[in-house]
Amino acid sequence: MANKIGNVVIGEIKEIKQNIDLGKINDQNIQGMPWGLFKQKLRFKCEYYGINFREVDENKTSITCAKCGYKSKKNRKHRGLFVCERCGFVANADVNGALNILKKVVPNAVRG
Ligand SMILES: [Zn+2]
Repeated sequence: MANKIGNVVIGEIKEIKQNIDLGKINDQNIQGMPWGLFKQKLRFKCEYYGINFREVDENKTSITCAKCGYKSKKNRKHRGLFVCERCGFVANADVNGALNILKKVVPNAVRG
C-alpha cells in the first residue's frame, strides 16, 4: 500500500452518550453526514484496504495532557485551546485529544 497505513483509530463518544440527551448525538454530523454513517463508511473502507479499524473509549482524552498525562478540566482553557496546568504543553484541543486517542492503541506513537 502506497501510504503504509496499518491502523485507523477513532474515539467512541461515550462521554456524550452518557451526559447529553440522545437527540444531540443523533444530530452530530461530519461534513453533513451523521456520525454513525461516517463510522460505518470509514470501517468499510478500512476493511477494503486491509487497514485495522480501531475504536477506543474517548473518556477523559479532552482533559488529559498528551505530553505528561496530567488530567484536569482546567487544562481546557476554552473550546479550541488546551494548556496543561502542570507542564505548560499548549496545543489545539482537538489535536491534543486525538493524540490521547492514538496513545490508547499505540502508547509510544507520540514523543516529546
Ligand atoms: Zn502536561
